[in-house]
Amino acid sequence: MATLSLRHIFKRYTNGFEAVQDFNLEVADKEFIALVGPSGCGKSTTLRMVAGLESISDGEFYIDDRLMNDIEPKDRDIAMVFQSYALYPHMSVYENMAFALKLRKMDSGEIDRKVKEAAKILGLDELLNRKPKALSGGQRQRVALGRTIVRSPKVFLMDEPLSNLDAKLRSNMRAEIIRIHKTLNATTVYVTHDQTEAMTMADRIVVMSGGVVKQIGSPKAIYDHPDNLFVAGFIGAPTMNFLHGKIENGFFVTADNYQLSIPDEAYRQLERQSAVGKAVILGIRPENISNEPLLLGSYQKAMITAPVNVAELLGAEYIVHTSLGEQPIKAIVHSRQQIKMDEKISLAFDMKRAHFFDPQTEQSLL
Ligand code: ATP
Repeated sequence: MATLSLRHIFKRYTNGFEAVQDFNLEVADKEFIALVGPSGCGKSTTLRMVAGLESISDGEFYIDDRLMNDIEPKDRDIAMVFQSYALYPHMSVYENMAFALKLRKMDSGEIDRKVKEAAKILGLDELLNRKPKALSGGQRQRVALGRTIVRSPKVFLMDEPLSNLDAKLRSNMRAEIIRIHKTLNATTVYVTHDQTEAMTMADRIVVMSGGVVKQIGSPKAIYDHPDNLFVAGFIGAPTMNFLHGKIENGFFVTADNYQLSIPDEAYRQLERQSAVGKAVILGIRPENISNEPLLLGSYQKAMITAPVNVAELLGAEYIVHTSLGEQPIKAIVHSRQQIKMDEKISLAFDMKRAHFFDPQTEQSLL
């Protein structure tokens, strides 16, 4: 269907504010890309430039080999689904989906075929005669998707399409959008501030902060190998633990002299980066700190015993809040053992999964 190429894209608003700086991305045909980042990081602005709803201040944007900078939105063969999916209240589901095609003066037999095909994909067959007010939030969102599907665009753009839905519906619609993407195979750019949505849906994620791309990669690559502190802290729930300390004689050592042994390979890499003897930030995900006997056995040199400050029971597991000296940490612990507040718990750090960051540059040292 379509490839997208964003080259050195900048957005300066008329008040001089630079909302997007030097954004570069090549999107492959049929790829599902998620733009993710906190509120105000520039993800909607980027999407709106792709849609043609916002001018590009600098840089070049191509669909396939065609420069799009000055092409009108309606001529870009792009369809966008927004957070607020305003449907026409006086029209039925069928009419809402057929509307754009009628405007294009498409033959009514062809319109009927396209609407019914989209309704089938979206499970709306039984609802075609209903008015929007007689639909649930999820059904309305599916109609909004239907309106874009019928147009068979080359590129789908979605701006937080699920943020008005409750948690359960959101999870169902997530699965639905993945299924639709697999069926239609349209190149898709999806904006969200929800890292779970990005992780579960996208082929590749673009993490943004302050108008700048912080990392681009597959969900797994970004999760396992965050390039910098921002990405490490933004992706993953509960969030990664960060501990301040320094590297000494094969260990990570905190100010209050807790010592965690560093695996040989990582230590050699830290030596190559001249990080030995220097301050670093250790990052470790809560699921990589555990009281499982196996881990406790293999990581005796990276173990602590500390009081449980809070234990949040999630069902299958607890999030245990404790601390390493003065520094708070969270660990995920299986709920087959009961965890009580104020009791001491022994926890091993799976140091093969530890990350190290330079506190100055905030870049990964591994
Ligand atoms: P959110 O998740 O809250 O929608 P976002 O990452 O999509 O955030 P954008 O809407 O792209 O962020 O906005 C990026 C930055 O640009 C914000 O700081 C915003 O205040 C600013 N901005 C947006 N529109 C304009 C405008 N028309 N003029 C000036 N600044 C703007």
